[in-house]
Amino acid sequence: MLENDLVNATAPTASIDPSPLRANTSDTVQQTVEAMAMAVKTYALVYSGEILEGVFGYANVAQATAELADLSQVLVEQWMTPLSQLQPSGPALAWPLTMSALYPGQLYLSVVDQARHWLGLLAPDGFYTLPRFTAAAATDQAELTACHYSVALFQQQQERLALALKGAQMGTWDWDLAQGTITISEEQERLLGLTPDEFGGTYDTLFTHVHEDDQTTVQQALQQAIQLGQHYEIEFRVLHSDGQLRWLSSRGQVFKDGEHAPRLAGVTLDISEQKRVEAKIKLQSQRERLVAEIAQRIRRLLDLDSILEQTVTSVREFIEADRVIVVQCEADLSGQVIQEACSPSYPPMLGWVMRDPWSVGEKFLAHYRAGRGLAVEDIYTQNLPASQLGFLEYFQIQAEIVVPLLQDQTLWGLLIAHHCQAPRAWRMADVRLLQSLATQVGIAIQQAKMHRELTLANQQLRRMAYLDGLTQVANRRRLEQYLDQEWRRMSREDGSIALIMADIDCFKGYNDRYGHQAGDICLRLVARILTRAAKRPGDLVARYGGEEFVIVLPNTYLEGAESVAEDIRLMIRSHRIPHEESVVAKVVTLSLGVASAQPASGGSSADLIKQADEALYTAKNEGRDQVRVASPKRSR
Ligand code: GH3
Ligand code: MG
Ligand code: MG
Repeated sequence: MLENDLVNATAPTASIDPSPLRANTSDTVQQTVEAMAMAVKTYALVYSGEILEGVFGYANVAQATAELADLSQVLVEQWMTPLSQLQPSGPALAWPLTMSALYPGQLYLSVVDQARHWLGLLAPDGFYTLPRFTAAAATDQAELTACHYSVALFQQQQERLALALKGAQMGTWDWDLAQGTITISEEQERLLGLTPDEFGGTYDTLFTHVHEDDQTTVQQALQQAIQLGQHYEIEFRVLHSDGQLRWLSSRGQVFKDGEHAPRLAGVTLDISEQKRVEAKIKLQSQRERLVAEIAQRIRRLLDLDSILEQTVTSVREFIEADRVIVVQCEADLSGQVIQEACSPSYPPMLGWVMRDPWSVGEKFLAHYRAGRGLAVEDIYTQNLPASQLGFLEYFQIQAEIVVPLLQDQTLWGLLIAHHCQAPRAWRMADVRLLQSLATQVGIAIQQAKMHRELTLANQQLRRMAYLDGLTQVANRRRLEQYLDQEWRRMSREDGSIALIMADIDCFKGYNDRYGHQAGDICLRLVARILTRAAKRPGDLVARYGGEEFVIVLPNTYLEGAESVAEDIRLMIRSHRIPHEESVVAKVVTLSLGVASAQPASGGSSADLIKQADEALYTAKNEGRDQVRVASPKRSR
């Protein structure tokens, strides 16, 4: 019976079909033809027992079909070409070298018997064998053509595979590592940018168009696959002769199974589109990260100037613009450039009032209010009136992007990028970047505004916390803090600090006589007079408690302080505030105690207060309405 077993053990080329169809002399022509069709074989080797008798090919089929109607009874033996007839004329060949030299690249099949004894070679033009295998000499060269419909079927399948590979834009290649020959598919040739003339079937020519930066990678990957008998997977670029750069992905494997010649075979795919998308996504995410970074930097800032400065600098750097400005919009839709980052090669715009056609005016207001920006690629294609064109030309603007800076639906300003060298086809990504940054800047401006308001409120609060509510001079907390601070400063600077403690004479009586409200008014008046008397910027008047005041005089010696105190006493008196209950005069008077110290020489601010208080006590004791000085222990 027919069997399709492997009789070929030493196929010298990888491309030949390694499993010839085997038929017996007792098989019928019909059986054999059917088996050939099924196995897609172009011939069958016909055996009688274990002996190879001949070959049954398409010519035999054609002849048998022409002469016989019914092939089901006729034995194949009668129609085969006997082995003896397949021998080509000429001398017997010395195997194997001569054979490969004679037929380089030729398809031929090594034929062995069941015991794997080599019988000869079957080639399209005959069966070749060595002298010891030769049967009777035969001169006819048998034609080994294909069994007709087997070939058709085979071709169909080949076409299908080729179509599928082409459809998938997949190339195939096969490298015979022993012979050094490489077979590649048409698609592979196309993918590698090779023309049929360029590719000589050798390794050297295969990678002619591979990008020079990728040559080494590709070669290393293949060498490694060969050395380790592994599979390879590489991505590389190919520069086609039309200048197109394509990305290819190639994967394959070394086939080495002892029976076949070792080979490296694989498939190649065009992955340029995939690479393009990958690169785009990568670029996009890089940009997004950068924008987020810039936005974060901006959002961390709290004053408007720094925010705008950071914005224009970052944007200019990021989109490589020649000039980036912020225009603040006024209610009348005019706008002034309040911040700028400009290349030194172009005229600066800071401080200018904009007359740019896209910056101000009713026309684009609704557009900007809706948060949308616009990009102008070339000012000369915009049909601009000469005056506007003149303005743009003065600043050498050739292309620009404008995005709005919004504050609660109102147009606060515009963020504008200029390109000056030439027209510029802005990328959508540039416009989007500016837009998303503008949103962040809008938030940052809002934040800055709130921060400013908060700072003012805090200042107000702090002022209130340090102020005496009735007299509006410093309160005792502020006095202590200020005295401490100045004490330390004078200690560093080796200066002198003086203190005046003043107390209204017989004030209890004043209240009793004129009422508490009048007392309050009197206290305010005294405080005002004291404030006027303490003229130097460093002097501080504070209400120490009740009708007692303290004046801190940094950088002042005792004599100076004493004279200030005396001036105060006289000023109060000269105001002639009526005080019928006073034991001193009929007007309001003050008693004052003065002390001074040099902090660098030791002591404390509490000591100083104590001394001034003691001096005041002396003034009271000695008749009021007078200045008394503390014993000058540490005065110069
Ligand atoms: P001396 O000359 O010894 O200083 O006598 P004096 O009456 O001024 O001193 P005393 O300490 O006996 O009384 C202080 C008075 O000051 C008591 C209080 O009625 C008055 N006083 C303190 N604080 C206020 C204030 O805020 N408003 C008013 N109207 N009076 C105040
Ligand atoms: Mg008093
Ligand atoms: Mg008092």
